[in-house]
Amino acid sequence: MKEVAVIGAGVAGLYSSLELLKRDYKVTLIEAREAVGGMARSITDGGFIFDVGSHVIHTNSPKYREFVSGLLGNDLLEKNITAKSYFEGKYHNFPPIMGDIFDFPKKKALKILLSLSLGRINQFRGKKRSFEEQLIFLGGRDLYETYFEGYTAKFWGVSPKDLSSEWVPRRVLPRFSGRSALANEWQAYPKHGGIETLSKRMAELIEKKGGVIHTQTRLKEVQSKGGKAVGITAETPKGDENIPCDSIISTIPLPQLFKILGKKFEIGYRSMIFVFLKVKGGEILPDTTICFFPSSKLPFTRLYEMPKYSPFTCPEGYTSLGVEIPCFYRDRVWNTDENEMCGNVTSALANERIISEEKLVGCLVRREQYAYPIPTFNYYERIESERSAIGLSNLFIAGRMGYFQYLDMCDAMESGERAAIEVEQSFRK
Ligand SMILES: Cc1cc2nc3c(=O)[nH]c(=O)nc-3n(C[C@H](O)[C@H](O)[C@H](O)COP(=O)(O)OP(=O)(O)OC[C@H]3O[C@@H](n4cnc5c(N)ncnc54)[C@H](O)[C@@H]3O)c2cc1C
Repeated sequence: MKEVAVIGAGVAGLYSSLELLKRDYKVTLIEAREAVGGMARSITDGGFIFDVGSHVIHTNSPKYREFVSGLLGNDLLEKNITAKSYFEGKYHNFPPIMGDIFDFPKKKALKILLSLSLGRINQFRGKKRSFEEQLIFLGGRDLYETYFEGYTAKFWGVSPKDLSSEWVPRRVLPRFSGRSALANEWQAYPKHGGIETLSKRMAELIEKKGGVIHTQTRLKEVQSKGGKAVGITAETPKGDENIPCDSIISTIPLPQLFKILGKKFEIGYRSMIFVFLKVKGGEILPDTTICFFPSSKLPFTRLYEMPKYSPFTCPEGYTSLGVEIPCFYRDRVWNTDENEMCGNVTSALANERIISEEKLVGCLVRREQYAYPIPTFNYYERIESERSAIGLSNLFIAGRMGYFQYLDMCDAMESGERAAIEVEQSFRK
């Protein structure tokens, strides 16, 4: 029986393990953290459950819908995530609909309408557009400046002029038609346990089917011979362990894999800090699940209210907020200590009258080093050439930071399946 080592137990590694077991391979899945789930993990603290980042399962594919439905069974909640945008002291519909534009002072409303029309006329035909050019083309400069410019710069930490427009169709385009980015997709969330329940259920299935999962086990080295991987060395709580294998699927962040392989990786990524607030009382975000904050004066880009995903994430009489703060790894924001970070966020929210500080009963901070690959100009060509430099014919990659592409959970699962198929094809050669 051929043996495959899968590295990383986020949704991509878990799903690829299930696909490998379906094909009768022996699977050893190793995970550096104490539990499975990766980026889609949940923190439980004093009766509150927080997801590390706002997470809802969404897909257009009947296959993944069926898989998730089967996995969660009675624990499945079908969802319709709604969004608003907050600026100038007010919540605004997001995406805006025509009528919302007249909420602005008359002069600004007219400017937005005019620039919306001019934007459409002013086409940059034949030219590869930057993110900024593409958005101005679609919605005009005023709409872009009001809703997207500040948010995009804060989110990515680079100017929207330097970002590629290639991710606009999926992520941003639906918003210009007045619908939320996920409006056309099936959306779901686990009733109990937070988003991590999805991964826990996959892990149970893997073990039931004979796969082996080692947590607190970190990939340290890949042994190779003649351009092929023949085994891995893993750091475990009991010391280093050698695991022989016939093939590898890696879902760990590509920059980290390159470091282990002794290679350079040049494309940037964005990190994120999550502040979790426990708050006495009812709803905070009015009629919305998530809210975007384009203003550069506020340190966060997005807030999400956990009981809106599932009421079982919070004790009765309380609500809870997740706050997302993008940054670069080890920059000043990343290095801010937990107390100061909680203080900064709560006072910014209190100044905006979004929460009152007396109702706050607790605050936690978590950090994710590898959150988003930055899609700068020419990113797509550059990443292709980076991926091809791995140089081991039986080492395949999958997952969001593993494949280094802006993938969501069902996309990450799909990439895990693709890697399992690549393993199978390589054995047939
Ligand atoms: C803020 C935010 C919001 C999001 N919202 C949504 C959403 O609403 N809907 C959605 O579908 N998706 C969402 N996503 C995306 C989703 O989280 C990812 O697509 C998905 O979790 C990626 O899974 P993965 O398995 O590819 O990667 P990961 O979950 O990152 O898994 C990689 C695993 O490898 C482990 N690892 C790292 N190094 C080593 C090593 N050396 N040895 C062993 N193990 C190692 C890590 O600990 C990790 O568990 C969001 C992401 C973020 C950051």
